[in-house]
Parts: sequence; C-alpha cells; structure tokens
Amino acid sequence: MTLTDPLTDIRTTPRHEVLISGAGIAGSALAFWLNRYGYAVTVVEKAGALRSGGYPIDVRGTALEVVRRMGILPQLHDAHVDLRRLTFLDGDGSKVASVNPHTVVGSVAGRDLEVRRGDLTDALYTAVRDDVEFMFNDSIATLDQSGHGVDVTFRGGGRRTFDMVFGADGLHSRTREFLFGPEEQFHRYLGYCFAVFTMRNTFGLSHETMMWNTPGRAAALYAVGDDDEVHAFLNFAHPEPPLDALRDPEAQRDLVATLFADAGWEVPGMIAAMREADDLFIDVVSQIRMPRWSSGRVAMVGDAAYAPSFLTGQGTSLALVGAYMLAGSLADRDATAGFAAYEHDTREFVTLNQGRIGVGDATLFPTTARALERRNDMLRDLSTMPSGEGRPAHSALTLPAFLAAR
Ligand SMILES: Cc1cc2nc3c(=O)[nH]c(=O)nc-3n(C[C@H](O)[C@H](O)[C@H](O)COP(=O)(O)OP(=O)(O)OC[C@H]3O[C@@H](n4cnc5c(N)ncnc54)[C@H](O)[C@@H]3O)c2cc1C
Repeated sequence: MTLTDPLTDIRTTPRHEVLISGAGIAGSALAFWLNRYGYAVTVVEKAGALRSGGYPIDVRGTALEVVRRMGILPQLHDAHVDLRRLTFLDGDGSKVASVNPHTVVGSVAGRDLEVRRGDLTDALYTAVRDDVEFMFNDSIATLDQSGHGVDVTFRGGGRRTFDMVFGADGLHSRTREFLFGPEEQFHRYLGYCFAVFTMRNTFGLSHETMMWNTPGRAAALYAVGDDDEVHAFLNFAHPEPPLDALRDPEAQRDLVATLFADAGWEVPGMIAAMREADDLFIDVVSQIRMPRWSSGRVAMVGDAAYAPSFLTGQGTSLALVGAYMLAGSLADRDATAGFAAYEHDTREFVTLNQGRIGVGDATLFPTTARALERRNDMLRDLSTMPSGEGRPAHSALTLPAFLAAR
C-alpha cells in the first residue's frame, strides 16, 4: 500500500482489508484504531465469545491517554475498582501487615485505573463491534505471504486474502509461531505459574485483597466491591514451565491442587472452588522478547510480541499503547514503512516496561523462607509509609498525534 496523499487516498480508494488474530485487549484496541484510519478490519477469535475472565487489571500512564482518545475513559472511571487495603498473611493465616495497595503495586492514587478485565474487554468490544467483523470460534490454519497479500485459510474452512495480518493472540501466539518459529526462542520464563478464577465471597471482604504466603506459594482473595464474588489467585514457583499440564484443563487443576495440598488459611476452600470454576485461567509467568515484531505483511502486538508478565502490572497498558502505535504508524504508510516506524517509536517504551525481573525473584512472591522474612520486614515498614508516586516507565512515551482519524 503506497499512499501519496493519505487524507484523500484513504477515504476514496477501496478499503484495505486486514485481519487481526485475537479479540483480547490488544486485538480489540488495534481493530478500533485501524478502523478509524480507514481499514476494513476482521478479527478472528478462537473462543466462542469474548473472553472476559481474569484478575482485575491496571491501566496506567501513557495507556490512560490511549483510552481517553478512544472515548472510553469515562466508562472505565465508572468501573474503577478502588482497592483500599492489601493485607499480607503468614502461613498460619496471621497478619503480617496491611498496606495501601499503591505502595506495593507502583500505581498512582487518583490517576491510574484498576478495572475488572471483563469491564475493559467489554468497553473495547462495544466501541468496535458495529464497524468491525468478528469471527468467533475460528482461528488461522495457514498463512501464506508469497502473493500480493496474505492468503489465509481458517480452521473453520474459509479462505481469504488480506493486505495485512496482525497477531494479537497473546503469550502463546500461533501467529508468531507461523511467522517466526517455536515460542521457546522468545519465551523468558520467570519461574512461577498462576491460576485465577472467581468464587463466592463468603469472607465479608470489600474493596480489599488478602494475600497468604509461604515460600514459593501465594494465595490471594480480591474483593473488587461489596458483591458476592471474589477473584481468587494462586501463584506458585515451579522450576520449569509445566507446559504439558497447562495444555490439559484437568491436569492444570491437579497440578495446582497438589502443590497447595497442605496449605492453610482459606486455601482448601479456594482449591475446591477452583475445581468447579468455569472461568479458570492458568498460565506461566513469563515474558516474550522478540528481536523483530514483524515479517513482511504480518506484525505482532500486545503479549504476542512483548508480554511483560503480570509482575510488572503493565501487560494491559503495553497492549493498549502498542495497538495505538501500530495502527497510527499505518495511518499513512504501507506495511514496510509502517511496521518499521511502529518498532522504532515503541520499542524503548516496551523495554523500559518489561524491566529487569530475574527468575524467581519477584518481591511479592519470595521463594525461600529468608526472602519471605525480608519481604515481610519491608511490608511492616511500608505500612507506615505514605503511598508511592508510581514509576516513570508507565508514562515514558508521549503519544504522537497521527493522521486525523475518521
Ligand atoms: C481469559 C483471560 C484471562 C486473563 N487473566 C489474566 C490475569 O488474571 N492476569 C494477567 O496478568 N493476565 C491475564 N490475562 C492476560 C492479559 O489479558 C494480557 O497479559 C494483557 O492484557 C495483554 O493482552 P493481549 O490482548 O495481548 O492478550 P490476551 O488478553 O491474552 O488476548 C489474546 C486473545 O487471543 C485469543 N487467541 C489466542 N490464540 C488464538 C488463536 N490461535 N486464534 C485466535 N485467537 C486466539 C485469546 O482467546 C484471547 O482472546 C488473561 C487473558 C485472558 C484471555
């Protein structure tokens, strides 16, 4: 695609057809912006419907400006969780410290947003569903870039040609595998796995999180409001990524149940609830680091290209900013120039936000008794300290104003 006069060309020539794999945060945000820049967008999602599960997520710094420009900031303000207290417990359930959540998660009180993941996916989907074609329950079977576009066959049996294809299909992206080969090359395992699901709030919790720890294990209950549901979270250290178990839903549950078998506090009830949960999400705590985010007419975005892991709290914000930057770079450029600009303008922000997390050394999830004691001492001190000012990495990119959107 070569556009000499972008404002005229984009609105008078036939719309370029593009395909996005994955209707998560990155996929829906990218669909929104590409549609605004005049592309005819199709999104293929392997699940039968929008996947709204997951632990509450943060939208911070530069990403706040992305959602403001999308017009969904007021909705997200209404959905803001307003977590007021984070209480840490010892192995026997006794209290270690109760702190202001902002002091430990690096967010800025009164500015950053924390919303249920489902509230964000709903807001993004609602903003695009009338203008974008969604194909649920389907996925890409083959990609062939040998012609003048990208020939795609779908598992559901369809076959179409697109001008460009985008991989927004998460940490274990199939699009990335098609283009760049096996995940192992880009996967940086951080030494933990986690499981999240919802269960009944029989604990009387409201706007608060309780987190229980023993070395190498954490269990948390997160009540976003006064409703009768809590988000349950189990995190455990594991020397190698248990990839085989993670592919099989029953093996996933067995693995977690075995690792928490002798745990105290409310963990036995959490394990029982996990067995029944219909929204269980289990994955490795890992980063994706790729030397290049595109090949030919295909580009990667969000976790598929640069998952930072939840330990950074920046996965969703990177997905939103990355989608904005990628679409904007294509507002008046072809794939080659646009993808180069996307990478040039976004990589430093991504690298900064991925940070320098070492394997198994997440402060909140110590793996040895000594490290846990050190963390607890730190938390006891923190509980008397004022809330933090947030890390500048969240805001390290000033969003360019791209070609005026439609
Ligand atoms: C249901 C769910 C729950 C989550 N819960 C948490 C959580 O609790 N904590 C956390 O840190 N992160 C969680 N995540 C990941 C988190 O959403 C991302 O780290 C972050 O928001 C970046 O978003 P993303 O759009 O790049 O990836 P994701 O949000 O992972 O979205 C990827 C999308 O692509 C779809 N997809 C995957 N493979 C294919 C394929 N082959 N073809 C078509 N579609 C495909 C997925 O179904 C999903 O909708 C969760 C993701 C999902 C899907």
